[in-house]
Amino acid sequence: QTVLHANKVEKTYGNGTHALARMSLRIQRGDFVSLLGPSGCGKSTLLKMFAGLEDPSHGHIRWAGADQPAKSGLTSAMVFQEATLMPWATVAANVRLPLDLQKVPRPEADARVAEALAQVGLGAFGHVYPRELSGGMQMRASIARALVTKPDVLLMDEPFGALDEFTRNKLDTDLRALWQATGLTVVFVTHSIYEAVFLSSRVVMMAARPGRIVADVPLDEPDRSE
Ligand code: ADP
Ligand code: ADP
Repeated sequence: QTVLHANKVEKTYGNGTHALARMSLRIQRGDFVSLLGPSGCGKSTLLKMFAGLEDPSHGHIRWAGADQPAKSGLTSAMVFQEATLMPWATVAANVRLPLDLQKVPRPEADARVAEALAQVGLGAFGHVYPRELSGGMQMRASIARALVTKPDVLLMDEPFGALDEFTRNKLDTDLRALWQATGLTVVFVTHSIYEAVFLSSRVVMMAARPGRIVADVPLDEPDRSE
């Protein structure tokens, strides 16, 4: 089932920057798609269009066949390179924020926060403040805040790009395990080919000026032993 469909999409920003040339991409439910390419090739632009934060200049985006995310019943959550946690609130309160905005009653919200924190390995850290956490752990909290609404699609924009290599490898390993355990659909922006190949079921390579797809490679190959 196609959950995200970019159909002949182009993007020209108000200042005239031609960020994406006409491109099409279908993402199936349960895929882990990495968008791989150099700076400026339009990866973030495409991700923002999937999030409904930018409109294409031409062409259209479809969410499970609908022309608006709300009509499709599909939900997504976005994770950025900066964890953007509120420093004055505990980790649990940060993760609960999307549920507070949805006015989810407190006992249910707290149970879902605990579940999301456990999913990212922060089960014991709900009561601490973000500054007490390492960069990797802050990113885990940011992922928990995205997972707590139980989105169908997780959109991740170079989430581990600011972390050291060791921490990044650990988060990559845990993210892949989380994806395998949940069947979440993930769209992951990176410019590391190693990260893309390690994580993904499919790598979409892009090039710049203007942004476009140059290769689309499935990685979880069917058995070819015959
Ligand atoms: P990537 O994520 O691959 O680095 P982006 O989608 O951020 O690429 O950017 C693609 C192109 O669009 C770049 O040339 C960038 O400078 C430009 N761009 C991105 N956002 C804006 C904006 N809000 N206004 C004008 N130009 C933008
Ligand atoms: P991550 O585990 O998210 O990759 P690090 O590699 O920096 O982050 O942290 C290594 C380990 O150090 C963590 O898994 C955790 O057990 C411990 N740790 C880091 N910061 C704290 C803290 N503020 N309080 C308690 N333990 C911590």
